[in-house]
Amino acid sequence: MAEKTLPENIAPGTICVHSGTFHDGVTGGVNSPIFTSSSYEYLDREDTCYPRYFNTPNQEVVVAKLSNLEHAEAGVLFSSGMAAISTTILSFAGRGDHVVLLDELYGGTHAFVTDCFDRLGIGYTFVKTSVDAVARAITAETRVIVIESPTNPLMNIIDIEAVAGLGIAHGIVTVMDNTFATPINQKPLALGIDVVVHSGTKYLGGHSDLCCGVALGSREHTQTILAMARHLGGSLNGITCYLLERSLKTLALRVERHCLNARRIGAELAAHDAVRRVYYPGLPGCSGYETALKQMKGFGGMLSFELANGGVGPDAFLKRLRLVRPAVSLGGVESLICAPAHTSHAKLSATERHRLGITDGLLRLSVGIEEVDDILADLDQALSTL
Ligand SMILES: *Cc1c(COP(=O)(O)O)cnc(C)c1O
Repeated sequence: MAEKTLPENIAPGTICVHSGTFHDGVTGGVNSPIFTSSSYEYLDREDTCYPRYFNTPNQEVVVAKLSNLEHAEAGVLFSSGMAAISTTILSFAGRGDHVVLLDELYGGTHAFVTDCFDRLGIGYTFVKTSVDAVARAITAETRVIVIESPTNPLMNIIDIEAVAGLGIAHGIVTVMDNTFATPINQKPLALGIDVVVHSGTKYLGGHSDLCCGVALGSREHTQTILAMARHLGGSLNGITCYLLERSLKTLALRVERHCLNARRIGAELAAHDAVRRVYYPGLPGCSGYETALKQMKGFGGMLSFELANGGVGPDAFLKRLRLVRPAVSLGGVESLICAPAHTSHAKLSATERHRLGITDGLLRLSVGIEEVDDILADLDQALSTL
């Protein structure tokens, strides 16, 4: 692939714009062309392209940019975050093996494990978001540890370097879902984690209009993932690759604004009479703040808050919002809000939700990049009716 040689040590914002771009020798166009073929010639070529071999130019362009951002040697681009996560776990764990996972992992990951692992003969232990709990769950059969930080929706933080250390000490592959933080705020591979995965559907895509995922790490680890990925087949088409490449050019810029907006909104909500509690790792006093300070460059655009009236009528509050939209998913330019008890965590029993701390009045806000005063005014007018 014809990538122009870029200066070394360019900053993330510059990587976002330039890294990986396919140099168009035909026209000299400054953007990567979109390669739509699913069939490629094979004579006199070392490596034949094929979408499900994960080696088409548009796939490679995006992987190059993301690898550079995450300090990875290589990566595999997928058609969804779950394709990236399930393929990655299955690449390192099989019959008789054991996997340790945080019980606050993304609901889809949780469901994948509980629905499929028994049948596959893979043992597993879900633990609280704590390094000690992870350490205690490790057995002689443990092959993979899977973590997230911040977690959804309570924004708990785990010490990434400490978990990576456990993996190194025991020869266990550590996998981190870095969707909430993005590589702009947090670089798990630089802290010793083996494989970083993302739902690119969220901040990487950033405009709530595409679905994709990625796994990134050393050449050795990603080769293992690639071999499994070719069997399972969750590859991404060229047009969506291009949309993702286009989105990534503004990732650093968007994330900077998401962080600024979320920090301000978190502080204002924490001081609001109608709000009992705010969960945002960037607020001093929030549990995890010290660890977040150590391992995050910015605290991200996700925050949760609990209504002071115990959650009486969160739907009425949501319906009064005029700018912030009640919708699932996150990470787009527009502010979105949802009640986890009725959306992401609806399948859990009330007891299980209670144990995790997810009350009926808990609301999760994906802070967009709008003018922060407009978001605040909208939240305030809706809160004032409670
Ligand atoms: C959305 C999400 C996923 C799943 O990604 P899809 O693209 O929906 O498959 C995984 N992890 C986290 C943290 C997510 O938010």
